[in-house]
Amino acid sequence: MTLLDLLASSPLAFAVCALILGLLVGSFLNVVIHRLPKMLEREWQAQARDILKLPEEPKGPVYNLLLPHSACPHCGHKIRAWENLPIISYLALRGRCAGCQAPISKRYPLVELASGLITAFIAWHFGFGWQAGAFMLLSWGLLAMSLIDADHQILPDVLVLPLLWLGLILNSQALNTSLPDALWGAVAGYMSLWLVYWLFKLVTGKEGMGHGDFKLLAMIGAWGGWQVLPLTILLSSLVGAVLGVIMLRLRDAKTSTPIPFGPYLAIAGWIALLWGDQINTSYMHFAGF
Ligand SMILES: [Zn+2]
Repeated sequence: MTLLDLLASSPLAFAVCALILGLLVGSFLNVVIHRLPKMLEREWQAQARDILKLPEEPKGPVYNLLLPHSACPHCGHKIRAWENLPIISYLALRGRCAGCQAPISKRYPLVELASGLITAFIAWHFGFGWQAGAFMLLSWGLLAMSLIDADHQILPDVLVLPLLWLGLILNSQALNTSLPDALWGAVAGYMSLWLVYWLFKLVTGKEGMGHGDFKLLAMIGAWGGWQVLPLTILLSSLVGAVLGVIMLRLRDAKTSTPIPFGPYLAIAGWIALLWGDQINTSYMHFAGF
């Protein structure tokens, strides 16, 4: 029996492998969440200097997703391989840097754990196959962009747009829905929030959401077809209301950073893509249709 046979025949074996994969990917997602916004900011600054004809900044050290190697922000202690194991290292080090004992943010093991559990769940939900693989990629992307949006109020194109294209490409093989439904899902997803944005702006003179939100909803439409959009929008307001209340209680009253819409859309879209049919059917049943 090969490994592939085992994964295909045993949902439990597939879920356990997915858990481990998800933990490892979660460790990489931490790097993406932390570094990608800084990389983008550097790029935008360089472009702005170029447009404004300002002299180029002296070239700093290389900074990308692979280099420099991770180090403690307090003492510069280089993270060794055994200190970089998802969750295990955090527990073994008791949440403190091996060099200076400064506390390590709980965010890192939590992202790893979330990634591991979500990936295992996807494996369990879909069983071994292309659909599970596709949804793992989507889930990792949504997790990274939610946290980047929560931290910096940006949804990087470099994460959203490739996943939008991937949704269309996969649905050319009818992975979740037909290609026409996916195409109109992308169009309607973008246009609906674009309209809300302009109406809000015309009425209040303020910008209520970012262009990244239009693209994110277009991506969700590209994956699930236009049929998932009403439920996604409904659920995102529900998720927003629930998380909004929790966060208002958690955070101290002084801070007034804006709460971005992206994470709510991402969570709502994920739920709608996985259970949209069941939710719609039971609602119709409940409503007596
Ligand atoms: Zn340290």
